[in-house]
Amino acid sequence: MRTIPHFVNGQEVEQTGVTPVFNPATGEQTSSVPTPTKEYVQSVIDIAQAASIAWGQTSLSKRTNILFTLRALLVQRTDELAQIITNEHGKTLADAKGEIARGLENIEYACGLTEHLKGGFSDQVADGVDVHSVREPVGVVAAITPFNFPIMVPLWMSGNALASGNCVILKPSERDPSAAVFLAKLLKEAGLPDGVFNVLHGGVDVVNQLLESPGVDAISFVGSTPVAKIVHETGTKHGKRVQALGGAKNHMVVLPDADLNIAADAAINAGYGAAGERCMAISVVVAVGEIADDLIARITERLDKLKVGAGSDPTSDFGPVITAEHRDRVAKYVHNAPSEGITVVRDGTTMTSQPGFFVGPCLLDNVKPGTKAYDDEIFGPVLSVVRAATFDEAVQIINANKYGNGTAIFTRDGNAARLFARQVSVGMIGINVPIPVPISSYSFGGWKSSLFGHSHIYGPEGFLFYTRAKVITTRWPQPSDSQIDLGFPRTR
Ligand code: NAD
Repeated sequence: MRTIPHFVNGQEVEQTGVTPVFNPATGEQTSSVPTPTKEYVQSVIDIAQAASIAWGQTSLSKRTNILFTLRALLVQRTDELAQIITNEHGKTLADAKGEIARGLENIEYACGLTEHLKGGFSDQVADGVDVHSVREPVGVVAAITPFNFPIMVPLWMSGNALASGNCVILKPSERDPSAAVFLAKLLKEAGLPDGVFNVLHGGVDVVNQLLESPGVDAISFVGSTPVAKIVHETGTKHGKRVQALGGAKNHMVVLPDADLNIAADAAINAGYGAAGERCMAISVVVAVGEIADDLIARITERLDKLKVGAGSDPTSDFGPVITAEHRDRVAKYVHNAPSEGITVVRDGTTMTSQPGFFVGPCLLDNVKPGTKAYDDEIFGPVLSVVRAATFDEAVQIINANKYGNGTAIFTRDGNAARLFARQVSVGMIGINVPIPVPISSYSFGGWKSSLFGHSHIYGPEGFLFYTRAKVITTRWPQPSDSQIDLGFPRTR
């Protein structure tokens, strides 16, 4: 059985595989990932620390060239990378290519590093005194990533962290670890010096060691909310800067004046794409007024046409979920729903008898806050419909939810949309856009339990997170300026 190697100091490092990796479309184990010892983890931290000295001094033009080359390689090798993602994650090839394209945007943004790392300069702030500021790398960044975007999330972090002059230790999800190693090899081919970008596999113990080690300076984490919270608490306790993005429950409000065909299409795309395993997936449709029955009829009409199958089959609309345990967990929410007063309009869990970790589309109606199907992040192809009498009630529902990653409103009323955007406690908002993932020149991040720490990820906030500021005050005195003055320096 194949073992997925670590990638450390510019080369693949084989160790005994421990954790199985599956092809979710067949249910078969395809490889395994190693769990490194404490000593090995420490040696990787030491390598990254040592490499960070020279990398932090590398000219901006050399860094830019490497990132430009990486971009070209990612474009050239997209098909190969998409296949790797589909084999381990299960999403369709088209969706894997979409993920690569959105990740690439972040590399393109990082290529503008000479602009993003520009400091300020103030001339003559006092007589003969000038001030300028620079941003320096923080040192070693640990990037800990989830299974659902095995290349996009590593690219969210790596582009800006490397552009800023940091070394990276990427700890990918154990469930689909190969894309991370592929990225490391492309970076080496692009000319990145050895030790600057390393991939270290493992689970909880490895993450804890990265969080506690004095050799790691910053933590970028994306994953589920309970883990994000622990990562933030532990990392900050050990003196690191931490951005920890967590789970979500994203609501799509449909107002009575909306075009219901457009809204139904959006609910299907954003609710069931990638089997609902997106942090920006729509998991709740809030139908306002009297439109719920009509909207549900249009959604079910579309569900009849969806094809669930292997991600490598170009006719599949979505693939399996990530593991057998996750398939069973998703099914449990649907099976328990009637006992919570919920109407099961479509039960796709009957697919569970097929080989592979498949769950077909599920649709729940009359879902209410306080039920498990509503309160928990299910992270599967399960769309819940909540009925709300008014716009205000819809906003209240969203604001009472513990998550605040993304939300959307479907309407023809510009004023209602504007009020919605101003009133909801959510980080990313779509107006007639169901998955409002910001382009790479804005930063990505939710509110409430969807993000711990104050920094959003990628974009301008990414550059701030991966650098620290230094301000330099300069005077070139004349010999005649010599004097003793014990007073606090003043500018006037
Ligand atoms: P996860 O929290 O199980 O794992 C994320 C990472 O943390 C993995 O690398 C894993 O090895 C590690 N990990 C797992 N348990 C840990 C523990 N107890 N202590 C330390 N490290 C641990 O998440 P997942 O299942 O891989 O990914 C899905 C989750 O990620 C969903 O909740 C989804 O909403 C969320 N997500 C959020 C965003 C966002 O931007 N907010 C983006 C993608 C995914």
